[in-house]
Amino acid sequence: MDIRTKLLTSAFVSLLVTTTSLVTAAEPAEGVDTRTGVAGDIEASVTPWISSKVPEPVRSRLEASYNIATRHLRDNAECRSLFGELGANGFEALASTLYYPASQQHEKQVCRGAFGYTTVGSAPTFLCRRFSRLSERRAALVLIHEGLHRAGMGEWPQDPDGLPSSAINDLVAEACGL
Ligand SMILES: [Zn+2]
Repeated sequence: MDIRTKLLTSAFVSLLVTTTSLVTAAEPAEGVDTRTGVAGDIEASVTPWISSKVPEPVRSRLEASYNIATRHLRDNAECRSLFGELGANGFEALASTLYYPASQQHEKQVCRGAFGYTTVGSAPTFLCRRFSRLSERRAALVLIHEGLHRAGMGEWPQDPDGLPSSAINDLVAEACGL
C-alpha cells in the first residue's frame, strides 16, 4: 500500500454543491469563558499549532473554525463521547494536532476531492488550500473529523471496520451540532 492510499481525507462531496447555501457569516465573538472545572481548564489551554508554511487564508479559516470546534465540543456531550469511545479526550486530540499545508503534489491529487488529510493516530494534519473556502462551521467539522483520526479512528476502506469519510462527517454533524 503506498502512502497515498493510506491517506484519510475529509471529503464533502455533497458540500461542493451546497456550500453557497451554508451560513458563512462570522460567528458572534466569543465571550470570556468564566466557567471553571476540568473541561473548562483544558479548553482554556487549547490553541491550534499551525505551521508557518500554512497560507494565510487557510490559517485564518483554521483559527476561526478551531474556536467553533472547541466550543461545540464543550457544549455537546455526544461530541466529546466520540473521542471518549476511542479512549481519548477531544480537546487534547485537537490541541496535539499539528496543522501543515498540503504538499504541492497532494494539492493536485488528494485535495481535488478533500479539504484535508492525515493518517490514523498521527499528529500532522494537512490542510488543502480550499479549506479556506469552507464556511466556518464546515471547517470546524473537518477539524473534528481529522481530530478523530488523530485519536485513532480508522476510515473505510483503509480500515475494513471503519466508516467511510462521508459517514464520519454525518456522525460529527449529528453529535457535535455542526
Ligand atoms: Zn477521514
